[in-house]
Amino acid sequence: MTTVPGEVLIRRVAVAAVTAASLALGVGVGVQTWTAAERREAQAAREAALGRVDDALAVVHADVAARAVEGATSDAAGSSALLTGARSALAAALAHGQQTLEASADRVGDDEAPRTALAAHLAAGRAAAPTASPLVARRLTAELTAAEQAVHAAVAAEQARVAEQEAARAAAEAARAARATTRPGTPAPAAGGGADRCATTYGGPAFYTSVPTEGGDGSNGRLPPSALTAVSWTRDSRGTPFYLRADAAAALERLNRAFRAALGHDLALDLTYRDLDTQVAMREALGSVAAVPGTSSHGTGLALDVPELPCEYGWDSPARAWLVAHGPAYGWVSPTWARQGGSNPEYWHYEYRG
Ligand SMILES: [Zn+2]
Repeated sequence: MTTVPGEVLIRRVAVAAVTAASLALGVGVGVQTWTAAERREAQAAREAALGRVDDALAVVHADVAARAVEGATSDAAGSSALLTGARSALAAALAHGQQTLEASADRVGDDEAPRTALAAHLAAGRAAAPTASPLVARRLTAELTAAEQAVHAAVAAEQARVAEQEAARAAAEAARAARATTRPGTPAPAAGGGADRCATTYGGPAFYTSVPTEGGDGSNGRLPPSALTAVSWTRDSRGTPFYLRADAAAALERLNRAFRAALGHDLALDLTYRDLDTQVAMREALGSVAAVPGTSSHGTGLALDVPELPCEYGWDSPARAWLVAHGPAYGWVSPTWARQGGSNPEYWHYEYRG
C-alpha cells in the first residue's frame, strides 16, 4: 500500500488515545473490582476503537488514492494539451512557411538556397506532423521558423540590391541630363561605364525630321511634296517618314540593300529633310553647330543623319567604316568638313552628291 504522509502519526495518536482511555477506566474504577467479564468488555471496546482507527485510515487512503488518480488524470490532460499545442504551432508554422515560400518566388535574386532549405523543412515538417511528439514538433517548428527568417532576409537583401541599382541608374540618368542641360548640342563626355559609353552623344533638345512643305517654293527648307520621296524601310520615333529628294532617296534604297547584306540590319536614320522653321529653331538652340537657316544640306533633301549612337555609328564603328567605304558607290558621302579633324566633325552626317 502507498505510504500516506501523516498516516503513521495518525495511527500512533489514535492508539495512544484508546490505550489512555482503557487505562483511565481501569484506574478510575479500581482494577481489583473488575470482573473477568468486565475486562473482556473493555478489551473488546479497545479493539473496536482501534478498528475504527484502521477504518478511518482506510478512508484516508481511499481519499488520497482518489486525489492521486485525479492528479494523474490532470497530468495526462496536461501532456495531451502540451501535445496539441506543439502540433498546432507546427501546423501554423507549416502554413506560414508555405506562404513565405510562395511569396518569395523570383524575389531572392540568384541565390535560391534559402528557399530550397525552407522547402526541405516544410516537407520534413509535413511528413512528421501527424505523429510528432511535443519535443519533435517544437524542434521542427523552430527549424521552420529559422528557415523562413533566412528567406525573409534574402528577400530584403535582394530588394536592397535592386533599390541600390535603381538609385545608381537614376543618378547616372540625372548626371546625363545635367550634362545635356549645361552643354547643349555638344557631345556628352564619355564616361567609363559600358552603357554610358554607348549612350547617345546628342545632348540637346529633340528635333524631328520634317514633312514636305505644302506650297513650298523649292528653296532650301521649302521643298514641296512633289520634290521629295519617303524612304521605304523606316520612320522616325513619331511615325514621320524620312523624306529625301527623289534621286537621293532612290540611291539610298540601293545603298540600304547593300548595307543590310553586309551588316545584317537596315541603316537607321535620325533626320533627313529639314524644313526652314526647324532649321531656325535648331540654330537658336544649338548655335554654330547648326547650319545657318537656308544653307543646310538637310534643307535640300540631300542629307541624312544616322542616330548619334557612338557604338553603332561612331567613328570606329563597322557601320561607319562600311558607309565611308561603300557609300560613294551609291552617291552618298561623308563630307570632308564632317570628318574627324574637319571643321565640324559629325560622324552621323552624310550627303548625296549623285
Ligand atoms: Zn546632318
